[in-house]
Formats: sequence, structure tokens, C-alpha cells
Amino acid sequence: MNILLLGSGGREHALAWKLAQSKQCDQLFIAPGNAGTSQYGNNVNLSIIDFGAIKQFVLDNNITLVVVGPEEPLVKGVTDFFRKDDQLKQVVVIGPSQYGAQLEGSKAFAKKFMMRHGIPTAAYREFDESNYAEGITYLQQHALPIVLKADGLAAGKGVLICQSHVEAIAEYELMLQHSKFGDASKKVVVEEFLTGIELSVFALTDGKDYVLLPEAKDYKRIGEGDTGLNTGGMGAVSPVPFADETFMKKVIDKVVKPTVRGLEQEAIDYKGFVFFGLIKVGDEPYVIEYNCRMGDPETEVVMPRLKTDLVELFMATDNGTLNTIKIEQDSRYACTVMAVSGGYPGNYDKGFVISGLNKTVPADSLVFHAGTSLKDGNVVTSGGRVLTVTSYGNTVTAAVARSKETLQQISFEGMYYRQDIGFEFE
Ligand code: AMP
Repeated sequence: MNILLLGSGGREHALAWKLAQSKQCDQLFIAPGNAGTSQYGNNVNLSIIDFGAIKQFVLDNNITLVVVGPEEPLVKGVTDFFRKDDQLKQVVVIGPSQYGAQLEGSKAFAKKFMMRHGIPTAAYREFDESNYAEGITYLQQHALPIVLKADGLAAGKGVLICQSHVEAIAEYELMLQHSKFGDASKKVVVEEFLTGIELSVFALTDGKDYVLLPEAKDYKRIGEGDTGLNTGGMGAVSPVPFADETFMKKVIDKVVKPTVRGLEQEAIDYKGFVFFGLIKVGDEPYVIEYNCRMGDPETEVVMPRLKTDLVELFMATDNGTLNTIKIEQDSRYACTVMAVSGGYPGNYDKGFVISGLNKTVPADSLVFHAGTSLKDGNVVTSGGRVLTVTSYGNTVTAAVARSKETLQQISFEGMYYRQDIGFEFE
């Protein structure tokens, strides 16, 4: 079959790498893709939110399966667009309906969903213009620190952890009265701060059954020891050493099953990934957030550990036969270390030639491109997060060491990566 994958990051490079291994994959197209995805298929110059152009491409190229990498097309309704169009109805789309994508697209929606289904999450209240003053009183009495969340998508920047009441009230005012995050902050969720260690759990569901993929832990801060500004993600490890059988059973019983049951009970059209952003408080899992797609850079460690054919999984998701599938995992660790542009996550320059990509990579390492493009026959930097190296190993330390070794043969002006990914597990 012919497959169209939407997106252009490291996540999409890892998905393209995995999809291309399937016997069922004839032609793979990636829109718009990056310099790395072009090794596995044809990059197509399409906007991922131009549904009309996507439709034309799907019809012209006899596409059977569309895999949506990032959240934006899902939150904007790409799945519904396909389901409602007579010419596109037969095309399999992996990703929830616009309604289901609100699990990520609206923090208030996700919170209410968790409340309805008894899923453990931080205590919260939501505020908008209509109860603005009540919100100020609530904040004044709230224990510190206070977590403020813009309701809508804010490019990963909409969560603020405020250490004082003055700061919380100032931010609350900026969000609700001065559109700090545009329409995304017309509503604000105020949440209790949870202390614990975070991890990400991934399920693929058809809205009735589900399979669990390998779990992962990502590293969001730019600096060593988890310091400095937040980024899109500087590295990830899988499996997560503290996610033992007892803990994962709690995750399944208290979070995953009630979520999927909730989707079914509410008849939500959801055929796609559910990303559970969890925090382990004591021995208990709490949901910090849902995402309606895979994570980046978590995908770059999850796909290398997934032995099951991904196209087969996607077709079972569409057919409602996920309950017949057994997930096979590589038992080794997979760890990824992300190389970023100098200055990221602040200002940075692009267009630097990346050298060393033609050198042979060790058999236990994989290079996934993120912000790269082809220019005059060279691979050049085109984003903050440039590329990530995933390696296998019998320990986190060995896998990370191998990734750093492989990164040493690659270079571009200003290149930076964290040396300490997986530091807690050494
Ligand atoms: P989110 O965009 O919801 O993933 O939030 C971004 C980050 O903020 C999370 O990865 C956590 O590190 C942190 N965070 C969000 N909510 C809470 C909470 N209730 N308690 C503690 N940390 C939180």
C-alpha cells in the first residue's frame, strides 16, 4: 500500500524508518519531511494543515493509509475531513477525531474527562472571563507553587509554575486579560503542584481496545542536571527503570483502561495514539497531560524498541482488531541524545552544513533527523533541534555513551547536546 506520513521532525523520521520496514509498505510519502525522511520515501511539499491539498495528493497517489505525526492537523480536524468526504472515506487515518483530539487541544476538556472517569490527576479549577474575580481569590488562597495552564495549544509554552502568589496573579492576568497565549489562554486551568518523577506511556487505541507501546522518559531542559530553559526535548530513554511491573499495573488499571473505557462510553471516535504524560507521586501514577499523538523525542526510542510491524498495528487499529495483536519489544535500552543549534531554545541561526553524516554509523546506533533540509546537495540545519542519535545498550549508561560516540563524528557550527541524558539511572 501507499502511505502518507504528515510531519517533519525527528518523530516523523523514526516513524518513516519503522513504516518503511513493513512488507505492506509500497511507497512512502512524507509531507513535508526533512533531509532524513527522504532516505525512506519521497518528501512532498505540502502543508500539513492544507486539507484540500492533502486530499488531492491522496487521490492522485492512491494512498491507503495516512499517519498524522503532530497534533495540529488533528486538533484542526483532519480525521473528520477524511471521514466526511465521499472520495476519502475508505482511506485509513491514524489519529483521533477533532472532538477526541481535545484531550490534548483543551486542558479543561482533558481535566473534565479525567474527573468523569475517576482518573488520578492534580486537583484543579478552571477560570475565564465569566469567573475572573473568583479566580484571583482562589489564587490568593492556593498553596505554592501554583500551576497555571493555558487551556489551548500554546506550542508547549502554556504551562507556568509560579513560586509566589504575586507571580501567579500577574500571569493569570496576562493570560486572561492580555491574551498572553492568544486564544489559547482565554481559559486557564489552575492546578495543584505535584512532586514526583515524570514518564511517558503510549497506547495505540481504536477507542475500544488498546495496545501499550514501550514507555519512555524524556529530558526537557536545555542544561545538564535538568537545569535551564524548557525545550522540545533533549533526549529520552526507554524502558524507564522505575516503571517496574507493579507500577505499570497501576498505570494500566488506574489510567490506561479507564481512559479507553471513557472513550468508548462517550462514543468518541478515536483511532490513534494516546500519550499519557504521567508523574509518579510516591508509588502512584497521576496524569499531568494527555497528548493525541506520539512524543518527540520519545518516538525516537519507542520505535527502535518496537518489534511489531507498525503498518499491521495501524491496520488493526482501523479494523478494530487490536485485541488480536501481541506487542513484541526489544529488551535492550534505547536512548537518544538530541543535538541542537547553538542558542536554542532562544535565538539561533540556521543553514549550517552538517558534516559527518556520510560516515558509517555503528550497527547499534541510528541517526534521526529533526530540523534538517537539503540545500545545494548538502544537508543543512533548519531548526532548533537538528538531529538525534538513538543507540541500543544493555544499560542506560552504555546506550547513552554509544550515542555520544556516534555524535562525535557529526558536526555543525554551534552544535550542542547534553552529556548527561539518563543521569539518574547511572
Ligand atoms: P504539560 O504541557 O501539561 O506537559 O506541562 C509541562 C510540564 O509542566 C510537565 O512536563 C511538568 O513538568 C510540569 N507540570 C505540569 N503540570 C504539573 C503539575 N500539576 N505539577 C507539577 N508539575 C507539572
